[in-house]
Order: sequence, then structure tokens, then C-alpha cells
Amino acid sequence: MRKICVKTASAYDILIGKGLLDKCGELVSNVTGSKKCAIVTDKTVDSLYGEKVLDSLNKSGFNAVKIVVPCGEKSKSHQQLICLYNFLSENDITRSDFLIALGGGVVGDLTGYCAATYLRGVDYVQIPTTLLAQVDSSVGGKTAINIEAGKNLVGCFKQPILVIADTDTLSTLSHDIFADGMGEVIKYGMIRSASLFEKLSGGIAKENIEDIIAECVSIKRDVVQNDEFDTGERMILNFGHTFGHAIEKYMGYGTIPHGKAVAMGMYMITLAAEKQGKVQKGTAEKLKLCLEANSLPFFSDISSDSLYSLSIGDKKRTTDKIRIIICHQTGKSEIVTLSLKEYKDLLELI
Ligand code: MG
Repeated sequence: MRKICVKTASAYDILIGKGLLDKCGELVSNVTGSKKCAIVTDKTVDSLYGEKVLDSLNKSGFNAVKIVVPCGEKSKSHQQLICLYNFLSENDITRSDFLIALGGGVVGDLTGYCAATYLRGVDYVQIPTTLLAQVDSSVGGKTAINIEAGKNLVGCFKQPILVIADTDTLSTLSHDIFADGMGEVIKYGMIRSASLFEKLSGGIAKENIEDIIAECVSIKRDVVQNDEFDTGERMILNFGHTFGHAIEKYMGYGTIPHGKAVAMGMYMITLAAEKQGKVQKGTAEKLKLCLEANSLPFFSDISSDSLYSLSIGDKKRTTDKIRIIICHQTGKSEIVTLSLKEYKDLLELI
């Protein structure tokens, strides 16, 4: 088992390894004094791991209740959030108790936001079960729900007290969902580590997955420690996301998975910036080959007008400027501020 410590205002550990679900009760009891918790999970994950987690918690003396939400992005809604609040209240979850997010990014974001707001804040533990959640969404304390206007537009920062990433759970992921997580993995290579990028270029070697997850999480940890509240450096984690979120919105949330939308967003922004001479020649092609080798798409047929109108609602926009992330070469990223006119011109190049 690897342990990576995140030293944000409230520090916590990320544990990565095989067979961790079986001992999650013991691992959780090391970080909390409470004996009562509520597990939030979705239907699929519950059928695979709900019992195992509950057993382990019971063995360690926890009194755990469980709520199962529907699968998919639609659960990151205010309606679902209200259901959770009511469930917690009916089950007498108090301020000193805690929540457990057992599942992928949707469950993690929803549970995190619920933990941040229920009774003005209770602790929560992340047990991510998808590759995407293990390398990205479970770390760093960003929690959110979606509203009509866009994804993750309502949320707050709330760090978990522990993250348990059991790599055995990845074996039950379909090829497609595994590939989706690789979108974020490749992002880490692009923004910070040319050597990681190289490793991924030949397609994914599942036997090295623990090392790869640890490398991604360490990059995220470093970035988040420097900029917990996303006012500077942390924005580089958004590489590919400005377009990615627009593509998700264009296709309809839940129609295209997040990692795949990010994959397209990374390639399209790199292609446009390379055409402007801001990116080392050949970088877009390298990225394209890497995405293809990992069963990821790289291009969307979205028009530049739609891309523009759907992406200027992004959180990285101020009144008349937008900040985008560009990788000049693999492993090197920069935050670039553009006027909306410059941004529009850039999009025309795709
Ligand atoms: Mg993301």
C-alpha cells in the first residue's frame, strides 16, 4: 500500500493499493473518533462492493447506514442532494459523525458537497472505485452539483479526512470506463510529466496501474497544496476542461463521459494553439496518438460557434477575459489569459 499525504489546511492521507476495501473499517477508525457513519453509493457499486464495505465497517465497530442513489450524472442534482439531507437527518447523523462516498466521480462530488453543507459541515471519507475518481476527482476537495446552466456550477471546497483507493476495484470496470479514466491520466502527463506521458503512449499497461495512479495523485497533491482554493496554479488541472465541459454540454450531460470529453478538449486546444505557433510542433500529433492508443476520442464535430458560446460560461472566465491552459510541449503547461476576441480567434483555428 502506498500512502500520499496531502498537506492542505486540514491534512489527510490517500491510500492506494490492493485489497483495501476489506480493511476499510480499520483504516477509517484511524482517522475518526466517531462510530457512526452514512455510506453514499450508487446502484452498480453497491451491488459489487456495498456488502464488503459494510462488513468491514461493522467489524471495526461502526454503526453504518447506507443510501443508494441512481447511477450517472443526473444524481449530481439539487433534488438528489435534498434526498440525502433528509436521509441523514432521519438516520440521526450528527455533526460528529461522517459520510463515506463509495463510488465514482458523481458519488464523490455529490457526497462531498452534502458533507460540506449538512449541519454546516461533517467529515467525509472518499472510497473511489473508478480510475477517474482514483486519479482525480477524489483528491483535492472540490465538491459540486450541476445546475441547468452547467456542470459543477454550485459547489465548494471540502477536503476529505481520508481517501482509500483500492486498485482491485478497477478490475470490474468495463474497457470503456477504464479508458475514460485514462483521459485524466494523460492530462497529468501533459501538464507536468513528460516521462509519464511517454509511459502512456504505448497504451495502458494495467499491471503498472498502482504506480501510475500514485504518480497522478502526487502531481495533483503538489498542485493542490500550492493552491488549495484554485486561484492560480491549480487551474492547470483544468487542461482540456474548458472545451471538455462545452462538449459535454453540447452532447448532453451523461451522453459522453467526462474523461472522453476532456480527451477531445486537450487535443483541440493543443491543435489550435499549435497552429498559432504557441506549442512545439508535433505536440498535437503526439497527443492524438497517445489518446488513440488508450481508446480515447480526440475530436468533436462541435462548431467553433457552439464551442465558443458553450465554453464562455466556464468558471475560468471573468467579465471580459477567459483563462485557458496550454501545454507548450508534453509535460509543460501554462495558464494563458485571453480577451474574448482572442479566444474566439483561437477557436476559429480548430
Ligand atoms: Mg476532470
